[in-house]
Amino acid sequence: MTPPTEESRKRTPTDYIFGKVLGEGSFSTVYLAKDVHTGKEFAIKVLEKSHIIREKKTEYVMREKEVLRILGNSCPYFVRLFWTFQDRDRLYFVLSYAKNGDILTQIDNRKTFTIHCARYYAAELLLGIEFLHDKGIIHRDLKPENLLFDENWHLLITDLGSAKILSSEKPEADKSKTRRNSFVGTAQFVSPEMLTDSQSSFESDLWAFGCILFQMVCGEMPFRGGSEYLVFQKILKLEYAFPEGFDECAKDLVESLLVIEPGKRLGAADERRYSSIRQHEFFSGRNFDDLGPPPKLGDECDGLPESEIPDYLEPGLDEEKASRLQFDLLCPGEMSVRKKSLPNRKITDLSPEEICERLEAQRKGNAYHSFVEDNLILKQGFVDKKKGFFAKRRMFLLTLGPHLYYVDPVTMTLKGEIPWSNDLKTEAKNFKTFFVHTPNRKYYLEDPDGYALEWCKVIDEVKSHYFPD
Ligand code: ATP
Repeated sequence: MTPPTEESRKRTPTDYIFGKVLGEGSFSTVYLAKDVHTGKEFAIKVLEKSHIIREKKTEYVMREKEVLRILGNSCPYFVRLFWTFQDRDRLYFVLSYAKNGDILTQIDNRKTFTIHCARYYAAELLLGIEFLHDKGIIHRDLKPENLLFDENWHLLITDLGSAKILSSEKPEADKSKTRRNSFVGTAQFVSPEMLTDSQSSFESDLWAFGCILFQMVCGEMPFRGGSEYLVFQKILKLEYAFPEGFDECAKDLVESLLVIEPGKRLGAADERRYSSIRQHEFFSGRNFDDLGPPPKLGDECDGLPESEIPDYLEPGLDEEKASRLQFDLLCPGEMSVRKKSLPNRKITDLSPEEICERLEAQRKGNAYHSFVEDNLILKQGFVDKKKGFFAKRRMFLLTLGPHLYYVDPVTMTLKGEIPWSNDLKTEAKNFKTFFVHTPNRKYYLEDPDGYALEWCKVIDEVKSHYFPD
């Protein structure tokens, strides 16, 4: 038996040092991470299993993995999946790191994103789409946010969870349509056929390509509206307008792509590759076999600094570390600022009269009074009570007694109480995250407003009031 190579060896979180959070999706957190063996940087997408199951997203996640697996490393215009692994609670996707962010940020900078850039990246996008369609896959959620840049400013198409795999071979004409029950994708880029009969086809991606080209050229989306409904109405009526000064060749190409009837879109009738799009005047003179170097959008230093991963971090990812990364690295220095602003008076420094007065007011006007057994509330506020990566928002009520109740503010039901004892301890991790340690449990808490230190301070004061030793 041959020994496993570095490539084939099963990976675990401890093979990586996890650095800053690059972004968060609806059910994932993406970290910048460094391979401890090679020093190479990756983007690791971490998905909480229980959340995926709860949200019924298993199919979406599996599809993303499968599509990325099919694409492998054979097309440079897609984010590459290097490894996947899992532990008890989470799935990990090790992806190529898109160091220079997404194209939307660049499109918004009209000074640097010229028509030359639009032409170059439209060509890269077209090559990516051709490759995908050649594999029998429809992306179905092409939009500028899903077009990232690698360190050399080449496009990396991402977010393949909504993709549809028709076949692994080049599709035949009659296979090009597929039924779905509900609309997938993003309102502004969704094609009319997906709205009218929930039917997506390769041409749906060509529609999105037309929308993206429009946006690359003028900075605006073609179909805009105050609500999804209004956007959909405009798409169905093909109601959009070119702003003044819109490049004439680009305009012609957009018009030939934004056609209600999918079969009539430019490229729909092409046998192999999208030769009619390649040959459009907008791309005149462009050699699709060698697009040349990308336009200069930013200097090296416009991307992220060389290493975002501090050396002192240990490999692996536990909950504490995940939380610390989310806040410490994004908001350095905040801890010391917050610390200075804490009041000097102890929360328990109350005269009997004051207690009576406040209790009277609380009985009359505090919606949470019924949960606190007529104890005076010293401090209350929303706190996210974390379990795994996910959190439940609770109203925390610190009262005389002492008690630390927590209530579900939506159903207005008492959910529990943190038990007091001489062994109760607080620990602030940063301005948002804090722990309350009890002999049997560690409560993992987050103050969304960033007053974790204040929570720790007042809980400690109550503790020393009732448990002076
Ligand atoms: P949703 O799942 O809600 O559709 P999403 O697709 O943006 O959102 P993710 O794919 O988990 O969710 O990505 C979350 C964010 O992480 C992205 O918006 C992006 O900013 C960042 N990100 C994702 N992949 C990479 C990558 N390969 N390199 C750098 N940053 C990335």
